[in-house]
Amino acid sequence: MLLGSIEAGGTKFVCAVGNEDYRTMDKTQFPTTTPEETLQKCIDYFKKFDDLKAIGISSFGPIELRKNSPKYGYITNTPKPGWADVDFVGTIKKAFDVPIHWTTDVNGSAYGEYVISTLFNEHLNSLVYYTIGTGVGAGAIVNGQFIGDLGHPEMGHVRLKRHPDDLDFKGICPYHGDCLEGLVSGPTFEARTGKKGQDVPLTDHVWDIMAFYVAQAAIQVTLTLRPGKIVFGGGVVSEEFLKKVRGQFDKLMNGYINVGKLEDYIVMPAIKENGSATFGDFALALLEYRK
Ligand code: ZN
Repeated sequence: MLLGSIEAGGTKFVCAVGNEDYRTMDKTQFPTTTPEETLQKCIDYFKKFDDLKAIGISSFGPIELRKNSPKYGYITNTPKPGWADVDFVGTIKKAFDVPIHWTTDVNGSAYGEYVISTLFNEHLNSLVYYTIGTGVGAGAIVNGQFIGDLGHPEMGHVRLKRHPDDLDFKGICPYHGDCLEGLVSGPTFEARTGKKGQDVPLTDHVWDIMAFYVAQAAIQVTLTLRPGKIVFGGGVVSEEFLKKVRGQFDKLMNGYINVGKLEDYIVMPAIKENGSATFGDFALALLEYRK
């Protein structure tokens, strides 16, 4: 049997099929254009496989995931042109009469990292996954389950104490200005320095400012959920950057609680090449199939 994965991002879609061991057997990707064209590409891709038993979708959002809502399966009020109020699950379901698991991109990634940690016998009950890229978001698993009742978490938009050397920067979130996303997403590099993130050397003070904010996010989620691990993915994150984040975390937490070795607590994804969501989608598709 084969399981399908759609990782729906604001700039690109990754479609893949895998087996029951969550091993990717085939994969493709294409840019996110109009909903009609992009979802049709997903359908055309999966039509090539005749043993598809279930599909896991991890989508950019906001999305509706309350099963009792008439808009379940929709991308809701995204500012991305053309994509607001799009019936994602319904469109895929019309083409494939298989169980579909529907969640956010970061939830899918969180689940992938959670499942692989259990395969490595880490016995985590909970995990938080942040992506810091074009936008910032996070998914959380607690006791093996996603959290959120009225909707999915929006941890990318929490408020933070400002860095004293960054007070002139207003932030770029269209809703809040200087929320976490408004202060540390990839496009903030250009807004602050006029340079793209990859052209700003890690010795630049702006990285310390970024680490100060990301560490605060890690502290907030640590104090709120006490997860077993926090994973940081996305284009802005590197091991060198996480070293700075751990340093700031340690300083700001000031010994208040023990999270074990910080190198094992604040980490890069265990699944390489941005594969966390695809891996998670396979696992969630299999759960849905077995229901
Ligand atoms: Zn915001």
